[in-house]
Order: sequence, then structure tokens, then C-alpha cells
Amino acid sequence: MKYPLDIIRLLSVCIFFFPLVLHSQNILLKSDHYFDSEKGVFGSDIEVLIRNKQILAVGKNLEYETGKTTIIDLGNVTLLPGLIDSHTHILIEEDLHPGYTGFGETVVKNVIAKSDTQRALEGAFRAKSYLHEGFTAIRDLGNSGLYADVDLRNAIDNNLIEGPRLFVSGPGIAATGGQVNGTSFHSNKIITNKDYQVITGEQEAINAVRDHILMRVDVIKVYADNIPNRTTLSINELKTIVNEAKRHDKKVTAHAITNQAVWNAVKAGVNSIEHAYVISDTTLALVKKNKITLIPTYSNKELSHELFKKSGIIDSIRRNRIVNRSADRQQKQLLRLYKSGVKLAYGSDFYSKTSFSRGENAKKSIYAWLEAGVPIEKVLQYATINAAEQLTRRKILGVLKKGFLADIIAVEGDLSKDENALEKVVFVMKDGKIFKNKQ
Ligand SMILES: [Zn+2]
Repeated sequence: MKYPLDIIRLLSVCIFFFPLVLHSQNILLKSDHYFDSEKGVFGSDIEVLIRNKQILAVGKNLEYETGKTTIIDLGNVTLLPGLIDSHTHILIEEDLHPGYTGFGETVVKNVIAKSDTQRALEGAFRAKSYLHEGFTAIRDLGNSGLYADVDLRNAIDNNLIEGPRLFVSGPGIAATGGQVNGTSFHSNKIITNKDYQVITGEQEAINAVRDHILMRVDVIKVYADNIPNRTTLSINELKTIVNEAKRHDKKVTAHAITNQAVWNAVKAGVNSIEHAYVISDTTLALVKKNKITLIPTYSNKELSHELFKKSGIIDSIRRNRIVNRSADRQQKQLLRLYKSGVKLAYGSDFYSKTSFSRGENAKKSIYAWLEAGVPIEKVLQYATINAAEQLTRRKILGVLKKGFLADIIAVEGDLSKDENALEKVVFVMKDGKIFKNKQ
């Protein structure tokens, strides 16, 4: 296996950024409104005292050292923990067109036409858009070449480029063929091995996890099914992956579209399940009983319109009918999951080219939940505290609380009264550094 080019060095040469660093030791943020992600409630008038990367105190009329503290009164905004997208693919892009043959086409185009270096640089551009939309952490789940996601994460962690905290999986572990379809057998072998780690049998399952541990991924991703391909990992292969990951203290998340794939992943002991588009009541009950988190991935109506239009459905009346029908189905599913009481985290899984930035797309996808009628307090918890738990960062991310890392954003006005405010991010702080301040 060939290691990709020295992407970190290249990125450091090509891209510079200068986050606004204030010179005094402490920052006191004040705002008229806030969201408490632990309790799932909105409140008014809050102060947050920050020193370096950490939140020192949260409350009203806080004591602070005059002369050593910069006061930032944000006024009529809602302060909340930085948003977290639990399912992204920032090193890949889908460009829909009439006659599009499916995701396999996207993988083929990205793998054949682009080097890992180019994909990482494009990923850097998309990462920045996430941060500016208020996402201070994202979990990127594969289709990122041979560990180019790891290089991108390191570049951000080392402050070479601007972006959210990245939690990455490296190539997803899959059965023969991965999700690559529509190619000859020979081409499939070459392309699949650029974006997936194909395994056969339990020894290869162990080897794949160890490769990932060696390359320092944050989470292990497995494909419990490979739709549109019909190959799947066996329960024994899935169990072996989970056990080996556990031995290295890593969590496993499973891509699963069908009910059978969700069931297999649960039986194998994974920690979370992505998509679960088809899930029976019995399987859902089992997911809940095993305290596994589901990450459903849907987009809102506005984005669906864009995607269907690009796919060639130009007639707006016909498109409206199609979008409404599919929104109806997905809204019923989202409400069902919300009411079931299963643990949920927010994930966009949005990688299509639109007229918006990738960060904006991820933000708009949050509205799929709101359009379904799920209360905004719940949705914000899915995208903060619940997602932080997924990242194994429950004690330091996703909450505005003493001792937590200072990943804080503000949106214009009172979010509890105006859900559209979520689209108007006016302030972004990550690790105590201010990346955006429109006040
Ligand atoms: Zn995905």
C-alpha cells in the first residue's frame, strides 16, 4: 500500500489563515439568549467566561479580572455549543445530472479523476465552510482516499488550516466491491481499494482494524451492506471487527440501509448505526434496548428540490409532487424515530454539489428534522450533546459548561422564537479562538 503524498506539508505551504486571537488572557461572552443542551431548554441572559481553550464559568453576573478580560457583549443573539455533524464526506463530491447512475458513479469519478492530495485540498475548502456555518466538529466517514482524511484532520489540529475538529474513519471496511458499481470486474478491484478496505474472512477483518489503528483513525466504519451491490459482511466478520476495535478502545459505526443490515450490525455489537432507512419495529426496539445511537441522514425540502432539478426533473409542478411525496415519507420516519425514544444524533451525509457551500448544505439538512415537526430543542441536542457522546467527547464537547472546551457559536436573535435564526450564524469560537464575529 502506497502512502499518499505529504499532504500536510503541501497544505501548510498553500493555505494560510489567521484566526482572531485576542491578547488578554480571558474572554467574557455576554448574550441575551442561550441554549442549555444538557437540559434541552432555552434561557435568557447568560455570561460565559473563557480562558485559553476552556470554559471557566457559565452564569449571570460572573466575577472576572478587570484589565485581564476582554468583554464581548453579543447582545440580541442566541448562544449555543458549536454544532456537530456526525456524518460527513468532505473529500468527495457528487455532481448530479440527468441519467446519473448512482453513488458508484461518484466514487469512480472522484477516485479516477483526482489524486488524494487534490481531494484533501478540496476537503480543506469544505471544512472551512462547515466552521463558518457554526459546525465546530464533524465526523467524516470515509470515501476519502488512503487516509487523506487523517492528513486533513492533522493539518487542522496543527493550526495549518482553518476547520472544525475532524473525527475520521479512514477507508470504510466493506465486503467485496464496496459501493462501487457500473464498472468492469477488473476496474472494480482497482477503484474499490482506493476508497474502501475490502475484507474476506475474520483474519482480514482483524488486519483492517489494525491498519486503521496504525494510521490513527478516530472511529472504525463498517459497511453492513453495500447497496447497490449485493455483497454484505457476515455477522462473524462484523463481530470480529467490533472485538478488535474494542481491544484498541475504538468505537464502531455501521452503514446500514436495509433492516437485515441494521439487525446484523446490532447483533455484532456496533456502537452506532448510520442511515437505517428501513427499520422494522422489532429491530428498532433492539437498537433501543442495546443503547445504540441511530444517525438518520436526510435533507430538507429546499435541498431535495435542487437535487431533483439537477437530476433532470425540470418541470416544477412535477418536481414539487416528487419532493412532497419523498418529504412525507421521510418526515413520518423522523417523527417515528423521535417518538420511539431511541438515542439519536444528527448527521447530514450531504455530499452533492449545490448552489450552497458544503457547510450550508449541512445546516439546511438540520431543517429536515424541523420540517418533520421534531421540537427544535431535541434537534439541537442531536447536533450537540448527543453527537459529542458519539465522538466519545461527552465530557468536553457539546455543552456550555465549566470545564468544557470553548466551542461556542451564536445565531442572530432569539432561536427559541425563530427557527430560521439557525441559518444566521454571527459568531464562531473553537478552542477559545474566534473565527467569526459579525457583531
Ligand atoms: Zn455516508
